[in-house]
This record gives sequence, structure tokens and C-alpha cells, in this order.
Amino acid sequence: MNNKNESVLIIGAGLCGSLLALRLAQRGYKVAVYESRPDLRKVAISAGRSINLALSDRGLKALRLCGVEEKARKICIPMKGRLMHDALGNTFASNYSGREGEFINSISRGDLNALLLNEAEKHKNVTIHFNQKCKKVDIENNIAFFIDEETNEEFSVTFDVIFGTDGAGSVLRKSYISERKFLFSYSQNYLNHGYKELEIPGDKNRNHQISKEYLHIWPRGDFMLIALPNMDGSFTVTLFLSYDEGEFNFNNLTSEETITKFFEQEFPDALALIPNIKEEFLNNPTGPLGTVKCAPWCYKNTLLLGDAAHAIVPFYGQGMNASFEDVFVLDEILNQGFEDWNSVFKAYQKARKKDTDAIADLAIDNFYEMRDHVANPLFKEKRKIEMDLEKHFPNQYFSKYSLVTFNEHIGYEEAMKKGRAQDKALLNLIADDTVQTHENMTKEELKTILELVIDQTNEILAKDSVAGLKI
Ligand SMILES: Cc1cc2nc3c(=O)[nH]c(=O)nc-3n(C[C@H](O)[C@H](O)[C@H](O)COP(=O)(O)OP(=O)(O)OC[C@H]3O[C@@H](n4cnc5c(N)ncnc54)[C@H](O)[C@@H]3O)c2cc1C
Repeated sequence: MNNKNESVLIIGAGLCGSLLALRLAQRGYKVAVYESRPDLRKVAISAGRSINLALSDRGLKALRLCGVEEKARKICIPMKGRLMHDALGNTFASNYSGREGEFINSISRGDLNALLLNEAEKHKNVTIHFNQKCKKVDIENNIAFFIDEETNEEFSVTFDVIFGTDGAGSVLRKSYISERKFLFSYSQNYLNHGYKELEIPGDKNRNHQISKEYLHIWPRGDFMLIALPNMDGSFTVTLFLSYDEGEFNFNNLTSEETITKFFEQEFPDALALIPNIKEEFLNNPTGPLGTVKCAPWCYKNTLLLGDAAHAIVPFYGQGMNASFEDVFVLDEILNQGFEDWNSVFKAYQKARKKDTDAIADLAIDNFYEMRDHVANPLFKEKRKIEMDLEKHFPNQYFSKYSLVTFNEHIGYEEAMKKGRAQDKALLNLIADDTVQTHENMTKEELKTILELVIDQTNEILAKDSVAGLKI
């Protein structure tokens, strides 16, 4: 384990792979990274998926560990909450937290990836090879088989340790299945919804046309539109829509007329800001949304990390954050003095899997919350109370969203259990009128609510733990 001459192969130089390369290089290992696509710092390639992402505390924690947090923050746009746009064009805001200084950040996937590649390459013990696509891995003998995407030349490389950070379609994961060396459990579940990206350009002075302080949401029940700001004044807009259900869906929005009709009917205010809607809609790809769960994540000296181990739907804005946190947790395990890589990998999975399973489930919950519940009066009242509680009792109340997004010192599983029980408690108290709110709640009134919520939450948690339920 302490033999820093061991050679480490990382398959995939995306967000997780490039951060992992940086960290392992900092720890002194000899690292080679093989990436199937061209170098995104030299060739303009479509990232293939979301152009920008929400970066929050768990991701920042891992960037901090690697000494790149401040550089990343320089290319971030803070978003303090959601701004909802209803069908009549009215807007209302809902902050992510009632505490000061808790916000999420919009960041360009390409710029962040480039930053991490630059930092990794500063280390002499790192080499990054682009246009090298892994075709399979002999997991018994640590041999990875590649094809050079430019020359079509095929070759193989042998390493002491192999990490698969090659995303949701991981070749290392496929090799676990195809080589049949052990019992490998695997599930992949798609939503009936896909996504398509569009653009609200900046104005002629490269300023944002709508507030850049918010993540904008147009919730419409069965579908929704969201928008995150970019540094150049534009917004990346994402439509989440069913492939084949409802009056309008991806399968039937195939002509300029239907696309215009759909946007005029559902998102007239957004339509006014997207000048190239028809071209973009017809030319930009529609991407699927799925959850991958699998176990074990490791075999001998190989390990899956990031989306390769646990791809999730994007509705909690946590896929990248979780993948970065993987690197943080692995680093902690590496500090524990294990004798060999397989023991490290097993300990890592034991520490980590319950948390990535939890965020996968939370992300599905948030799909329904964002497209539907955010506009529901009960939900709005709950969020208002939560904001007031967080503002007046910043050390005592943390909403589920805050537990997941801003409390990086607790795991996702703990955040999920506590957050779900708390949600149940608060919604019950509002629904049965035990808790009533008005415009100017006093601290005393809020304290009474806080105590009720804490009591009920503890009761729910206790009952569920007796029943052995996950909640
Ligand atoms: C629409 C959408 C919005 C999202 N929004 C957010 C958000 O707001 N916040 C957030 O935290 N997360 C978000 N995510 C999730 C986030 O994109 C992923 O969790 C993150 O990219 C995972 O990083 P990764 O490095 O594990 O995988 P990837 O980013 O997929 O990187 C994998 C890399 O491996 C390379 N590769 C693949 N196959 C091979 C091969 N055979 N050989 C060599 N190289 C290979 C790929 O080219 C790529 O560079 C979103 C995802 C989607 C789809």
C-alpha cells in the first residue's frame, strides 16, 4: 500500500477521474489516465450532457482536500434559491436555506473539468492520454484493452491498480458482468422522462436576462423546465419531459409547429427568451435519465467510482457532488493503513455504499418535488416555516435540503432518514392545523413549532427504528 511505485490506471478523465488523478498524484502514486474523448481543453466537444451543474458543499469539500476549491469558486455563480415561474408568468422565490451563506453554485462542466485536468497534469507522476477508449478489462490480471479513436490501433496495458471512473456506461462495470468471476448485482432503472438542453442567451452586453441569483423552475406537474446561469450571461435551460406520455412528449414534438405550440401554451415567458427554440429543440439531443445501482464495486485490484458505481437522476444536483465525495471518502480510507488495495476497496464500499444508495433515492423524490410539489400551497407553507426556523434557530433546525446539500459532515443516508422524518412531522402538523402560520411569526411562536417538530421527528425515527424501517 505504501509502495508508491505501483502503477495506477484511471479509465475516464471526466469530473471524477480527473479529481481522483489529482488526489492520487498528490499522495505520490504513478497515475495514468485514459480518456476516450479528445482533450476538451483543445477541441470544442459537446460535453454530451449538462453544460452546467450545481456544485455544493460535498463537492467543495473534496475540491478543498485537493487544494482547488478557491480556483473552482472563481468560476462559480452562487444561486441562493429557486425562482418558480407559474403558468401565468408570475414568479415566487424559495431560498435553499434560511441561514446566511448557504447557497449552491452554477459551474460549467467543461471549465471545471479543464481546471481539474490542468491541476492533475502539474504533477510529474500523472500522464493523461486522450482519444483512448477502453473496450474491456481483464479483471483477473489487471489488463485493460483500448482502441485509439484516431488511428484505430488496438493495444493493451497492464497496471497494478485500475479505477473505473468511466461514467454511467462504465466498461469496467460491464467487464464485471461479462467476466462472471463473482456474484455481481446490477440494476439500471430509467425514468419515463428524458431531458433536452436549450439556451437563453445573454443580452447584447452579455448580461443575464433573468436573475442569476436563482435556479429557475417552471414546474408543470408532469414536466418542467429549469435554467442555470452561465458566466457569459446566458442560461442553460433544461426541459424534462416524458418520452411518450401526455399531450406533448419528446416522441411527438417533432415539428416546428408543435414545438411552438407547446412552449406558447406552457412556457410563454421562457419562450420569449429562447430565440432559437425551434433549431435547438430539433438539433439538440434528448438524453435519458436513469439510476444505476450495483455491488460489489470492486474486484481484486479494481474499483468503480463516481457514476460508474452509482449514476443517479439529476434532481438533487448531487451526482457530481457525490462523485467528488467518493474521492474524499476513498482518501480517508487510504489514511487508515490497510495492507493491500482490495482491503482498501472493500472498506471504502462498506463506508460509502449506503450513502450513494440514499442519494439515488432522494434524487428520485426530488424529481416529484421539483416538477409538482414546489407549487403546492402545503409545500410552500412548509418551506416558509423551514426558512424561518433556519433563520431564527440556525444551530437547531436543518431542513432535508440543508441536511443533504449543506451538511457535508454527515452522510447522505443520515440526511435522508432525518430529513424524511422531519418532512413527515412538519407536513402532518400543517395539514392537521396543529401549526398555523401568519406573516410576522414571533420567535416564541417559532420556538413552539420547533419543539413540536423535534418531538414528532424523534417519535417517527424511534418508531421506524423499532420496526427496522428505512423511512
Ligand atoms: C442533465 C444532467 C444534469 C446534471 N446536473 C448535476 C448537478 O447540477 N449537480 C451535480 O452534482 N451533478 C449533476 N449531474 C450528474 C453529473 O453529471 C455526474 O454525476 C458526473 O458527471 C459524474 O462524473 P463521472 O466522472 O463519474 O462521470 P462522467 O462525467 O460521465 O465522466 C466519465 C468520463 O469517462 C469517459 N469514458 C467513458 N467511457 C470510456 C471508455 N470506455 N474509455 C475511456 N474513457 C471513457 C467519458 O468520456 C467521460 O469523460 C447531472 C447529470 C445530468 C445528466
